Amino acid sequence: MVFSPLSSLQPRDWHKTIHVRVCRKWEFHGSNENGPLQHIDMVLVDNQGNTMYAEIPAKEADKLGPMIQVDRTYVIARFKVCNAKIFFKSVPGPYMLEFTCHTKISAATEQITGPKYIYNLTPFEKLPEFINDTKKFHDILGIITEINEPEWIPFSNQPNPSLRRDIKLTDGCGQDIKMAIWGSKATQFNLPEDPNTEDRPAIVLFTGCLVKYYQENFYVSGYSACHWYINPDIPEAGNLLNRTHGQSYKIKRSGIPIAQQSQPEPPPVPDFLTLQEMEAIDPYEFPATGCRCTVTIVRLVETQNWWYPACNLCKKSCLPEGSSYRCPKCNILDMYTYKYKLPFFASDGTEESEMIAFAAVAQSIVGKPVETVMRSIRNRDNIPPDIAAIISSKFTFSVAMAESSFSKSKKSYQINSILHNYGKQRALPFHGPNQAQLSDEHNQLSAQPSASTSPSYIPPGSSQNPLHETPTKILPLDQILLQTPPKNIEIPKNGKGDDNIVDPTPSTEAKSAKKRLHISERDEEKNGEEPYSQTTPDQEIAQQTNLNRQSNVQRTAAPPAEKISSSRSSKSPKK
Ligand SMILES: [Zn+2]
Repeated sequence: MVFSPLSSLQPRDWHKTIHVRVCRKWEFHGSNENGPLQHIDMVLVDNQGNTMYAEIPAKEADKLGPMIQVDRTYVIARFKVCNAKIFFKSVPGPYMLEFTCHTKISAATEQITGPKYIYNLTPFEKLPEFINDTKKFHDILGIITEINEPEWIPFSNQPNPSLRRDIKLTDGCGQDIKMAIWGSKATQFNLPEDPNTEDRPAIVLFTGCLVKYYQENFYVSGYSACHWYINPDIPEAGNLLNRTHGQSYKIKRSGIPIAQQSQPEPPPVPDFLTLQEMEAIDPYEFPATGCRCTVTIVRLVETQNWWYPACNLCKKSCLPEGSSYRCPKCNILDMYTYKYKLPFFASDGTEESEMIAFAAVAQSIVGKPVETVMRSIRNRDNIPPDIAAIISSKFTFSVAMAESSFSKSKKSYQINSILHNYGKQRALPFHGPNQAQLSDEHNQLSAQPSASTSPSYIPPGSSQNPLHETPTKILPLDQILLQTPPKNIEIPKNGKGDDNIVDPTPSTEAKSAKKRLHISERDEEKNGEEPYSQTTPDQEIAQQTNLNRQSNVQRTAAPPAEKISSSRSSKSPKK
């Protein structure tokens, strides 16, 4: 049989057969390791050393997943070659494989033995360039100097805590980095305790890592895609060993073994309150753990933007500077990611209240990544249909006082998490707008209702002077997320020129309010300054989940070709 090298595969190569070894295989379960499987991921290598990422979709996972084992060689036919993902790339290359219901897998008679390790090292000193950059996974090599036992880390925005194990590595040249391994990987990481190699530095190759930022320091984060090899037989490990000049690296161990730790109790479920009850509470008396409420979104706050450019490091809003954005806190230019900051009014029939959802929470409400919605805008005067479509959706939220409530008479609630999604409602709970809110907001205009519903109340006013124009001619998607746009990229224009595109809540306030409302010290440690910081593995997950959705959206939305010319969706729209 003739096998095709991985390097020769092109989209629409339906009839080729490959002979490959599976170097890495992992499962991706979405926002929770115990959640439903979303896909199985693999890194394949052929006998010429070519590599390719491959994916088994969830619906084929039961059948095809068990047929594949790591470090085994297979003959595989009837697969789909598609464009590589634009985020979380494990190996370079323009294409990836997708297994389908037709895919044939058989164990190969001739084994492929090398190369054993597939990696592309990012030197320690280059890692800061990739803080919160999710375009690709990074592979790193270092000497272990410290291993902590896994610890339970609680989160405010999810019911269960996560395990995290901290490790320290050195590159033998005086540069150290911190590494955090999450979830079940945290318990799987172990160094064989061999007295014969006691004095030899333990070199570890980590693959599939991301670079994160916490408390003004970067660290390397390993989650489901992360794999490691202790004392790998690769030239770079030999070079590293030579650099140590025989120095011994005694590994410092700390922490309590996980078996002796008790899993922390989940945080107490906050009380269920009606909006009327919530409105009656003084912001300073509001429960520290927040509260639950079941509400239907009745209209949007059209006087505020639903997106903002968030600094990659501190997550605060960046200010426009010419055609760029600068973070006033970090003083860095054009290192930002667009995020949701979605205000709306919700009602439960007892009262109508303003609420605000940020980043990943807002994305769960809208159902699409913010960049996708920004790219879909055709008419700058209109609220995008994807945003308008949230009206009439009913949820049970866990909410806390939004920071602005501490300085203004008008209350607003920040949504910490979505506890239940009831979907679109045929009828909206009737309640006129809160009088305090009305007097504050003359410019409110009802949002465009979705086709099947209409808002209960349309306040007077107009949006003739709306906000900052949403950048519609925005960056190609991969460049937006790269966050280090080269010079030739079109930077979104600030339409009015004199408006500040800032989060309405100043950063200092945000910090102090967060302090008041924080659920635990650990929470802050994990989440940084904001509850939606991307330092959690869940953000990584959310983004990985969106990847597929995003490519689907791109396909159906069919934006002008020049806008997506340099981005790649994982599914080619071409027939
Ligand atoms: Zn910043």
